[in-house]
Amino acid sequence: MDKNEVLKILSEIKYPGFSRDIVSFGMVKDVKLAGKNIVVSLNISSEQEDKVNTVKQAVGTRLRASGKFDEIMVKVMEKPAQAQTASPADKDPWANRSELNNVKHVIAVASGKGGVGKSTVAANLALALQAQGQRVGLLDLDIYGPSLPIILGINERPDVSAEKKLIPLEKFGLRIMSFGFVSGSNAPAIWRGPMVAKMTEQFFNDVDWGDLDYLVLDLPPGTGDVQLTLVQKLKISGAIMVTTPQDIAVADVSKGADMFTKVEVPVLGVVENMSGLQLNGSVLNRDGETITAALELDGFGRVQTDDQGRFDLRYDLFKRGGGESESRRLGVPLLAEIPLSQALMQATDSGQPLLVSDPEAPVSRLYQSLAQQLQTKLEG
Ligand code: ADP
Repeated sequence: MDKNEVLKILSEIKYPGFSRDIVSFGMVKDVKLAGKNIVVSLNISSEQEDKVNTVKQAVGTRLRASGKFDEIMVKVMEKPAQAQTASPADKDPWANRSELNNVKHVIAVASGKGGVGKSTVAANLALALQAQGQRVGLLDLDIYGPSLPIILGINERPDVSAEKKLIPLEKFGLRIMSFGFVSGSNAPAIWRGPMVAKMTEQFFNDVDWGDLDYLVLDLPPGTGDVQLTLVQKLKISGAIMVTTPQDIAVADVSKGADMFTKVEVPVLGVVENMSGLQLNGSVLNRDGETITAALELDGFGRVQTDDQGRFDLRYDLFKRGGGESESRRLGVPLLAEIPLSQALMQATDSGQPLLVSDPEAPVSRLYQSLAQQLQTKLEG
């Protein structure tokens, strides 16, 4: 049996909690063969001893099962020794994540599942950062359903520069690139991991972003191989998790947040979207004049209008507090609770984002506050 055959056997072992194998993770540092004796050296950066032991045992079991070896030794490289002798690339399994030289901060917007408003959050966050004087790029990596072309009302194709780099499209002061711009409607519905990794790398390396203060990434929903590949390809300053208030969405987002933590990307905070229904209006008498009044709403209680007859109430359609409990579990702030808003939905779906069409709207203000908090966190 040669080294490649050994690696083939080892590549059947998945790293606990991931669907990716230990070889592609770069955890198998060395394989030494001497007749029927084998020594495998593993380099696993995890602090979790049980995971390291699980992998170590699995390697032994697989090699024994092959029936090709008499003597099997599995070594796990010790941390202190590694610190003294190893190159930086060995110390940090993610050291080969590429860094975009001209981009100060990369923020990933992620969600456990689709339809929770992740792209809406990514687009409006980018616009809010831009409105606060930052140079902002927006990269839509949601290959399965790129929605930024719709949200931002873009149906052009990007040009290619003389250096053969994709030139981001400019709209509302943002530099924007999306899988949707280049893949069109003929893109295969199911992209496989390696293809995605290749396309993603191209986006990172072959887009002429210019100088940016922030690059906001709209990740595909979920926490599978695709997301893992993405977060490994690029140095990300931090991630924002978007969830709706329901338990199921929160359970999904928890998995996503744990994925970032595992690959040492800090989770900057949680955004709860579609967080209750915000109702604003006024009470009129029969002649159409505003009156001060109290509304008695079944199952909700009493709402008093102000002097001008206006009321403002939040109705929790779903269970409340999912975002808050998740942020507490992660020990990160709840950055925003964005209500269900017809104005936001209409703006989003018509390609005129609310931050542009109505920057003073209550929901726009929430986005401005979100952008402000992130700047404070990242700029210090
Ligand atoms: P995702 O990226 O998570 O799949 P999108 O951002 O594409 O989700 O949003 C899905 C739909 O929900 C869109 O039609 C969008 O306009 C709508 N939407 C998002 N956030 C809100 C909100 N707070 N209130 C009302 N509609 C929303």
